[in-house]
Amino acid sequence: MLAQMMDQPLLISSLIGHAAKWHGDTEIVTRTLEGPIHRYDWRAAEVRAKKFAQALSRLGVKHGDRIGTIAWNTYRHVEAYYGVAGMGAVTHTINPRLFPEQLEYIINHADDQYLVIDTSFVDLVAGMRDKFPNIRGIIVFADKANMPSEDKLPGALCYEELLELEHGDYEWPTFDENSAAALCYTSGTTGNPKGALYSHRSTVLHTLTEIAPDCMGLAARDTVLPVVPMFHVNAWGLPYATAAVGCKLVLPGRDLDGKSIYELLTQEKVSFTAAVPTIWMMLLAHMKEANGKLDDLERVVIGGSACPRAMMETFQDEYDVQVLHAWGMTEMSPLGTVNTPKAKHDVLSKTQKVDLQQSAGRVLYGVDMKIVDEDGITLPNDGEATGELKVRGPWIIADYFNLSEKAPAHAEDGWFSTGDVCAIDQDGYIWITDRLKDVIKSGGEWISSIDLENVAVGHPKVAEAAAIGVHHPKWDERPLLVIVPTANGQDLTKEDVLGYLEGKIAKWWMPDDVAFAEDLPHTATGKLSKLQLRQRFKDYKLPTA
Ligand code: ADP
Repeated sequence: MLAQMMDQPLLISSLIGHAAKWHGDTEIVTRTLEGPIHRYDWRAAEVRAKKFAQALSRLGVKHGDRIGTIAWNTYRHVEAYYGVAGMGAVTHTINPRLFPEQLEYIINHADDQYLVIDTSFVDLVAGMRDKFPNIRGIIVFADKANMPSEDKLPGALCYEELLELEHGDYEWPTFDENSAAALCYTSGTTGNPKGALYSHRSTVLHTLTEIAPDCMGLAARDTVLPVVPMFHVNAWGLPYATAAVGCKLVLPGRDLDGKSIYELLTQEKVSFTAAVPTIWMMLLAHMKEANGKLDDLERVVIGGSACPRAMMETFQDEYDVQVLHAWGMTEMSPLGTVNTPKAKHDVLSKTQKVDLQQSAGRVLYGVDMKIVDEDGITLPNDGEATGELKVRGPWIIADYFNLSEKAPAHAEDGWFSTGDVCAIDQDGYIWITDRLKDVIKSGGEWISSIDLENVAVGHPKVAEAAAIGVHHPKWDERPLLVIVPTANGQDLTKEDVLGYLEGKIAKWWMPDDVAFAEDLPHTATGKLSKLQLRQRFKDYKLPTA
């Protein structure tokens, strides 16, 4: 027997519709690329999103067409998110930090019909214009005064002029909630980037989970600053989640340095923010120098790579900001786990609570997880056994977009192989030790590169650390620790570093050597690029070899 409930599709337009109707006077604040702060509210944002939807229809954009965006976090980018998906097309957010060959590949692979770009990417796109034969037009997020010259980007359309032609009196169309809404490509550290094509349904379900107390716990009274870019897995869903709760949204534009972020956090009284550890390293360094305070900030989400303990302690002990350690991936929209405590953890000591926070988080309702050994046998959730993490759920992709054959990550049994190695305890906290391709295999046992790095960055003279496995004739691989010293740590020695690690890690994990570097290679999403680092050290010989 079927129930008698209203059959309302879960559509992304309903999120901004709700924000505009019931939180219409709540602000959206942007640091514009031109410099000044721009302010308006959810009501005005929806009208402009509708105008953009009308403009796209006028340009001949149809249901399911992909529209690429190359843009920072700004109010116009938010309007495009809703305008494109709301009218039934697909927002394809593109990471401008990808290599030109990768940009060419994904724009053509996605078969984008239009590109919508910030003025700061005009040169990038103009230089590659002939590589995108299927692109019908390029829309620049600018008013007439800030448009590039005609010879620079011939035929470019002005976003503000397109909106001026429309009245905005428009009903969001209704269609199947399983329609595609957004597309993100993984950074493709090996091989070509692969696309994750999200639906309206998966996005709304992800949003409902995201705002819940054991996830990000967002509320109408919050002020949210997504520093994580809208081209990095949709800023982890925050442009949707903030509309669902109707809170104030603060957008940093392209200035992601410590000083600029600090200014926005304090001037706009931000209560909640999110980004990868690299961003927080810059903010904390700035605040130390400038003697900064974070009176309004309550919670910071740190994810994308493991959050070092020292960073957590600085946020919590020195600035009284709660850290929410999170784990996810592009293929998961991206949320998989967020670290929040249970009632039984109230009795833990302060140190034990921080120990627990080292876990990348606790499993969310909607995501099912298990770990398996090399033969695919399920391992116990005892917090000890480590294996490859497999996941399934309604906001996890069933396959990659438009690949000629099924990716090996998608097995017939319906589970997605994450490529991450972790332990899971009986409460659902996951303890990530590595990516499968980064584990250091010493004498048949695995050494966690993440654990080595996290301990090493606790040293006050270490700015960044990376552990990689290098060939060893007896043990197969042994760890090499590469250290970037802080500005005042130039006198740091190998002995200092190894001495610091002693007692904090298992004896047989002790790196065979320590190398010093001025910088470490990072991926387009700001994570350590172990692939490039291994390349850098490919001819390196361990002193113990
Ligand atoms: P990419 O950076 O490759 O473009 P993602 O942003 O999807 O892609 O990265 C997902 C991966 O990032 C995860 O599979 C995991 O390896 C790593 N990661 C994310 N969060 C954490 C975390 N809290 N701790 C450790 N690793 C993490």
